[in-house]
Amino acid sequence: MDQVSPATTIDTGQERSAIEAACWGTRGSIASPGPDTVKFGGNTPCLEVRVRDGRRFIFDAGTGIRPLGVNMMEEAGTPDAVVFLTHFHWDHIQGFPFFQPLYHSDASIRIIGPNQAHADIQKLFVTQMASINFPVPFAELSAKKEFSNLDGGAWEEDGFCVRAMRVRHPSFTVGHRIDYDGVSLAYIPDNELAGERYDVEKGWRKRLVDFLGDVDVLIHDAMFTDDEYGSKLDWGHSTFGQTVELAHEAGAKKVLFFHHDPCRSDQELSEIVDFHRVQAAARGYSVEIDAAAERDEIIG
Ligand SMILES: [Zn+2]
Ligand SMILES: [Zn+2]
Repeated sequence: MDQVSPATTIDTGQERSAIEAACWGTRGSIASPGPDTVKFGGNTPCLEVRVRDGRRFIFDAGTGIRPLGVNMMEEAGTPDAVVFLTHFHWDHIQGFPFFQPLYHSDASIRIIGPNQAHADIQKLFVTQMASINFPVPFAELSAKKEFSNLDGGAWEEDGFCVRAMRVRHPSFTVGHRIDYDGVSLAYIPDNELAGERYDVEKGWRKRLVDFLGDVDVLIHDAMFTDDEYGSKLDWGHSTFGQTVELAHEAGAKKVLFFHHDPCRSDQELSEIVDFHRVQAAARGYSVEIDAAAERDEIIG
């Protein structure tokens, strides 16, 4: 969590927050390294949340989990973690076979993801590492691994609470809300707020707003401009404007645009953030707006 940027640090009213959070990957769909993505990052989704007692929780295993794993291996102690997955699209699991703690025989890695038509999560990763896809087999991962499902409801351990809610995205995809010691953070990387194709129950929008109620930081899918969205309807992602409206409606203190389009340059994204800050101020919204940037401390 180096390269701390005060611009994206939330003031929790405490001297130091009970948790620290940073994104190791912010990009959607496919990794996009290069000179145009230095500021916001080119790695695909991965969020790290650390509790002051040392526990580490990770959300999604996009390519950003690779450098996070390297960082973990350099620390003292065993590189244990609980990894929550929102879904199994490539951009959210591609870093998994490169997560070094999985090759550490003393490490304990728990992997918790949504149920995909009763597909066993471990089998999904065995398939990802089948020889036609990857040179090293799953059997080489010597860490102690446990796999379980979280489709909705809450998972809690020593005060650290993760709630899951189904969102509007192809396959069974969830978003997460984290609450710990008065600090809250929501992570919804892939979610189409508009569109008609999703089989979610009536009242979904209201339930989502309630789920996110008064959250300190909302990290949310914001892949398209209004102009771009016309040709990307039903692709599973939201616009910047839709995301700001959701954050305002839910009473979020801060919203971070996430799942950046692989073609979006740092310059374009900065201009989009500025535009939406002006728009939100004109509407009297109090929500703070920024775009998630790789390695920036979000809560700390
Ligand atoms: Zn994605
Ligand atoms: Zn997806």
